[in-house]
Amino acid sequence: MSASVIDFVATEARFGAHNYEPIGVVLARGEGVWVWDTEGNRYLDCLSAYSAVSQGHCHPKILAAMVEQAHRLTLTSRAFHNDQLALFYEEVAALTGSHKVLPMNSGAEAVESAIKSVRKWGYEVKGVPDGQAEIIVCANNFHGRTLGIVGFSTDPETRAHFGPFAPGFKIIPFGDAAALRDAITPNTVAFLVEPIQGEAGVIIPPPGYFTEVRELCTANNVMLVLDEIQTGLGRTGKLLAEQHEGIEADVTLLGKALSGGFYPVSAVLSNNEVLGTLRPGQHGSTFGGNPLACAVARAAMRVLVEEGMIDNAARQGARFLNGLKDIRANTIREIRGRGLMLAVELHPEAGRARRYCEALQAKGILAKDTHEHTIRIAPPLVITSDQVDWALERLATTLTQDLS
Ligand SMILES: *Cc1c(COP(=O)(O)O)cnc(C)c1O
Repeated sequence: MSASVIDFVATEARFGAHNYEPIGVVLARGEGVWVWDTEGNRYLDCLSAYSAVSQGHCHPKILAAMVEQAHRLTLTSRAFHNDQLALFYEEVAALTGSHKVLPMNSGAEAVESAIKSVRKWGYEVKGVPDGQAEIIVCANNFHGRTLGIVGFSTDPETRAHFGPFAPGFKIIPFGDAAALRDAITPNTVAFLVEPIQGEAGVIIPPPGYFTEVRELCTANNVMLVLDEIQTGLGRTGKLLAEQHEGIEADVTLLGKALSGGFYPVSAVLSNNEVLGTLRPGQHGSTFGGNPLACAVARAAMRVLVEEGMIDNAARQGARFLNGLKDIRANTIREIRGRGLMLAVELHPEAGRARRYCEALQAKGILAKDTHEHTIRIAPPLVITSDQVDWALERLATTLTQDLS
């Protein structure tokens, strides 16, 4: 490591809260699927900022939209209208087939906003007695880091010493429709779930699970809230992961790739009266729906569709998945994936996934471990066949090593 790398890492460690444990690379530039460190070494980005950079680093059209808008108008607050918000609403609604949109910034804010909205809907429309609303969530969920959300996490690290937490959440196993049926009561207002559990290690539910979930929610007047912050906008090879299941959520949450990684933009989308219960003064955000965010999100959605990134994710995802499954290595326990949301789960004896990520870094691939034994692979959706094959070669040589 050069002096400059040591300096960045040491300075971060000295002044920053140590709430992350980054891989030892200091990035300085990005373009498409590639990023470069401060020494000029090039890496294939197989994390895409947890799927926020799906459109590829510094996409020129999103960049142009951002610069153009930044010259004109950045923030008005919602105290006034701006000439971008209506267009953003129109375009995100048309793309996703939604009726109502609530713009926020981070993914966690979208989740919190959805929780507030479905509770309000429960009291004002469904007729749940005040203060009694229940929301069902799944074990091993990841919905963000705010206090309300970590209160219903099942990960001890995520929760420990952050309590007391808000009541009103029930936790059931993921992929178990019978558990949902048993957990629903007359006070249940919503079931909040990820279509594929991302942070848990790309856990895909059994076929037919979401069909049953949809039926149970409809039959019991429970709002199905799909957190598509990671799975949405093409990551799984379809615009929304719900399309693989042939269902429609009542409330859909988007974030991450909604801005192509340029800016925090999230949104709550609803297909019914849920967002309709919000009245002036009851919810808001200074930056939510600002013209810069809207211009960036509009461009991010446009390039996703115009440049065929969703189909490419399906095609390259299948190539990547098959390639991973062809790797014969004793270290591999299971390969999972849908579209370009992929994971390699290692046998516990193979050693920590972190070691393999560090070995991959040395070969020019940046990937991130999750939960000790899983390497997650989620490159930008603009990846080409040659780049997939290039990555597979390096993954094969790394995974056949014993790094325990
Ligand atoms: C990343 C993520 C969030 C939280 O988004 P932030 O922008 O980090 O707050 C919520 N849900 C899912 C499924 C995510 O992957």
